[in-house]
Amino acid sequence: MPVRTLVVRTAHFTRISDAVEVHVAIEKLKIFIINHELPRTDMALFGVRCPYCGKSDRIRELDSPENLHGDLAPDDAEVYSDLWGRLNPLSDILGVCKFCQNPLRLSSDVSCAEVLDAHCPAPDAV
Ligand SMILES: [Zn+2]
Repeated sequence: MPVRTLVVRTAHFTRISDAVEVHVAIEKLKIFIINHELPRTDMALFGVRCPYCGKSDRIRELDSPENLHGDLAPDDAEVYSDLWGRLNPLSDILGVCKFCQNPLRLSSDVSCAEVLDAHCPAPDAV
């Protein structure tokens, strides 16, 4: 169950408010993605497994706020930039599973998808 996974994964946050804030931001981004039919790209990343539902052919890379510039209403662009910056302070690549609609973080080589409050293992740790 997605929500349960999220609760378990956020256990390492030292402050409850951090975890709640991240959770709220993830939910907002999820709704934003659905409402605005993001991402604009139609290309799925085959072989990248969704940590929520396990599908490996439904994840797509999300458009960065810069790439959507002029494509969204100014207010919407601001909301999207804010959520993007909050969930992705390191400017990694964000993606979304179009099967379960959960936003995800993608590793820099786009080979691994993870929930937005955990990290992929280092390449040599596998
Ligand atoms: Zn999924």
